[in-house]
Formats: sequence, C-alpha cells, structure tokens
Amino acid sequence: MKIITIEEHFADQRTIDATAEYGAPSSMAALPEEVRAAYNGMRFTGNQLMDTDTLRFDFMDAQKVDIQVLSYTAPVCDAVPPSDAVRICRQANDILADVVKKHPDRFYAFATLPMADPVEAAKELERCVKEHHFVGALITGTYQGKFYDDPMFFPIFEKAAELDVPISWHPEFPDAKIQNYYYLSDNYPVATGMQFATAGFGWHLDVGLHITRMVLSGIFDKLPNLKFIAGHWGETIPFMLDRMDQIMRPQATGLKKKISDYFHENIWYTPSGILSRNQFEYMVKVFGAERIIWALDYPYIPFDSCSTDFLMNADLSDEEKELIAHKNAEKLLHI
Ligand code: CA
Repeated sequence: MKIITIEEHFADQRTIDATAEYGAPSSMAALPEEVRAAYNGMRFTGNQLMDTDTLRFDFMDAQKVDIQVLSYTAPVCDAVPPSDAVRICRQANDILADVVKKHPDRFYAFATLPMADPVEAAKELERCVKEHHFVGALITGTYQGKFYDDPMFFPIFEKAAELDVPISWHPEFPDAKIQNYYYLSDNYPVATGMQFATAGFGWHLDVGLHITRMVLSGIFDKLPNLKFIAGHWGETIPFMLDRMDQIMRPQATGLKKKISDYFHENIWYTPSGILSRNQFEYMVKVFGAERIIWALDYPYIPFDSCSTDFLMNADLSDEEKELIAHKNAEKLLHI
C-alpha cells in the first residue's frame, strides 16, 4: 500500500546561518539562563534532518514510506525583523524547492512563512504554491507572543483558503511567561520542567489552545474553505470537544456551528509518530478514517520496528487503511 507521511522535517545550514545573527526567539529570551542552555542542547540539527539523499531514504525504505511532505521544523524567522524575514523565508523555501525538484517522486513540501509580515507571508504562500507546487504551509507556535487569531494575520489564512491548501500547525516553545508559570518548578529538575513545558506535554496543549482560539475567532465562518492539519492526534483537543460543545454553545460564541463541527469539517489529524493504539482507535472513533493522515515526525521519533505495520495491523477495513495511508493526503494536498 502506498504510504504518504506529512510531518517530516528538514533543515539546511544556509538557513540556520542566515537566522543565527538575530538571536533567540521571544519564547526563549525571558527564561532563566540554565533553562535556555538546556534548550539549546535540545535543538536538533543533526545529519538526519539535513540529509535528503541517503539517511532519509534509508529511513523511508525501512518504514515503507513512499512520499514525505517536507517542512522546516523550527520557526525559521521568529526572531528576525519583518524586512529580513521575508527575504530569508523566500530563500529557505527556494532551498526546499530544490530538494523536491531533485526527487519529485519522493518529496512534496510545506512552505515556511514570514509571520512578521502577514501580507508578504500570504504572497510567499502563493508564490510557493504556484511556482514551486508546494502543498500548503507549516506554522509554528505564536509569533512574538501573538496568537494567529489576531486580525493582523488574516491575510495568510484568507490566501490559504483561496489557494485551497492546508495550514499545518506545529508546536514550538510556549511563551516564557507560560513556561515559568505552569511548567518550571523548583521541586523537580530543570530538564524535567523543560520536557513538561514542551514535547512531554506543554507545547501540545499550546497548539490545541491555539487552534481552538482560531475556531472561537470565527475564522471558519469567514473562510469555510480554510483547512488545518493538527498533529499529535489533535494536540489534546479531541478529548475536550464534547465538553466545549456542552458549555460554549453558539448562542454564547456567536459562531454559526457547534465548536466540534469545525473540528470535524475543517481539520485533519495525524499521529506525528505517536503510535499509541488507544489514541489511534479513539481518533478513528471520533473523526473517522477520512480525517486521519499518516505522519511519522522524521527524524525526531526513533522506531524499533516498521511503523507502517502499526497502520496495516489496525482493526480497520482495507478501504479505511487506504484513506489514512495515502488517499486523504492526496485529496487534501492535491497530490
Ligand atoms: Ca514535528
């Protein structure tokens, strides 16, 4: 069965060098020195991330993956001022486009956008889709403490809806004040607090909250064709949908539909490499196989065995497996 995975990361030294002089993003700057030092050690810029010929194909073959949709992991330009962000993102997308052009049968790509300048970001999305045949954009965290329900970012989402390409939401370090308030504590090690604030819990909640804020802002009423992708089995939100519907009703929210309707109609979900049978079955039960797309979060998650077998061994019909393995991605991304 053909396998397409859509949260598969990439880095390039030229892009890392181009952004290095601008310093740490706002989510890091206000943290204690020892926490920042620990985070810097966690940033993964290894060979697997940069390689697009050898290590990556070894992984894809071992995992029976035919096609990866590539994306930069970190927010490329979060710390870069608007004037330079546009230029650097453009260069970063051109570098990624060259990789795809070299292996058009194995790769597609999501654009990285200069969120600092939303009008230019919308133009860059259009350029990437029309000139490079990118299949959407991946955005990370907040931009300097601003959530994307701020009307200043509307042009980006308006353009995505117009082009009919999805926006994929990726976690990033939560704002420093959130990390300090909720996750870091004198009563357990700094490294534990760091994991709690990020990949162990916090940044998933952060993305789930962010997508919910987008729903509550009415963006899907304004742009019914807007499509999002949420990784990590929906970033904690699916379990809260019934409660949100119970408490935040359309009479109060002013939205045209129930909150869960938007999560069923405008959003697609991936495992991001979390191969938990319980979560998988819950997601299929809540959203159906037609909402789930395969993703392995290369190269961040090591797999001891073939992760594609996890999908093939699921208690689903062959038709449902085909949807998750490739048909949903092909339809959503126009592949
Ligand atoms: Ca990831």
